[in-house]
Amino acid sequence: MKLRSLLFTLLFALMTASSAYAQRTIIHAGTLIDGRSDEAREQVSIIIENDKITGIQNGYINGNSNDEVIDLKNKTVLPGLIDLHVHLESETNPMKYMEAFTFNEADFAMRSTAYAKRTLMAGFTTVRELGGSGVNISLRDAINQGFVDGPRVITVGKSIATTGGHADPTNGWKNTLMGSPGPEDGVINGVAEAREAVRQRYKNGADHIKITATGGVLSVAKSGDAAQFFDDELNAIVETANEYSMHVAAHAHGTEGMKRAVEAGVLTIEHGTHMTEEVMDLMIQNGTYYVPTISAGKWVAEKAEIEGYYPALVVPKAKEIGPKIQSTFEKAYKHGVKIAFGTDAGVFPHGINGREFRYMTEVGMPVMEAIQSATITAATVLGMEDQIGTIEAGKYADIIATDKNPLDDVTTLESVPFVMKGGKVYKK
Ligand SMILES: [Zn+2]
Repeated sequence: MKLRSLLFTLLFALMTASSAYAQRTIIHAGTLIDGRSDEAREQVSIIIENDKITGIQNGYINGNSNDEVIDLKNKTVLPGLIDLHVHLESETNPMKYMEAFTFNEADFAMRSTAYAKRTLMAGFTTVRELGGSGVNISLRDAINQGFVDGPRVITVGKSIATTGGHADPTNGWKNTLMGSPGPEDGVINGVAEAREAVRQRYKNGADHIKITATGGVLSVAKSGDAAQFFDDELNAIVETANEYSMHVAAHAHGTEGMKRAVEAGVLTIEHGTHMTEEVMDLMIQNGTYYVPTISAGKWVAEKAEIEGYYPALVVPKAKEIGPKIQSTFEKAYKHGVKIAFGTDAGVFPHGINGREFRYMTEVGMPVMEAIQSATITAATVLGMEDQIGTIEAGKYADIIATDKNPLDDVTTLESVPFVMKGGKVYKK
């Protein structure tokens, strides 16, 4: 054989060898809840290459000499959890209402990196960020570029409200300070401004749109449930958002505002406190998802009992609305409304998002369904069901593990010892 052809043969052999032995990660899962099947499986191997899952096999396979094996034989392995309602720029505290005057954007941004990391370490590998100042867009990008450890962030930037409505950023300020915020700040009146606010968010880099369809608990305003948009404004928001393939999430406590939002075609109702059977039927007809946020309701009801924790206007709303969300969830679930997992983290401390599973199952949702609401269902709401939400070949390797089987003890989801996102291990 001539030297040159010998060299080519050698080179070819080396190349095929290196591709055959490309490093893979193999997880040995004692129990697997894959996010799609209603049954857990025992003794499964999950094969990961780069950031994706490439195969699932029965039994514990060992692979090649340079494959990395992660031993989770005494754990239950699940898809990374998805929380559809978080606020990563801030966290509850009695001085929170002062932050608008004392914090720079950088202060919110710096804190958001810590909250993002806590969320990831709690097993939530994807979140839908439902509104802050807008620095959450930079947070999303910094995480995607590898500068900050955090979940995949899908963000609305800043919420859209009407003047004086929940999420009008100057509610409760003195007259000379409150001014008249407009569409860029997320405050609209009328159809043209509604369209402008949506387009501005698209331009700023938001992924989806959030509106506050009724009053809210934590805004310094009297009504926690009055409707705050007219039909023409809601239609303009939903139509404009859909032009850009964005969906609309609607915060809503009161019945009338909720009904208008569902009829206009929002994809999710957040909180849903005073949801009637009529609204539930409308949601089923329209394919609207309910994101309950029971955790936030319980937290605000509890903190409202502490003198001075919230401003005086907030306290009666927190006491009235907070305790109702869990029973609304129970009724909606039993009525057949589609449930997608979301907590409103930020209204309570980041990282304890997993308590929501306990609250959901306490009133009758089976644990497997609660897990699916935070995996495949939440991924579907995000339009990302081909990328995340299950442990299947072709999906991102977003994988967590729990010490106990959550089907036996749901509280095990509140302290997650293993977190992988996109094939990278963040906690072990
Ligand atoms: Zn919220």
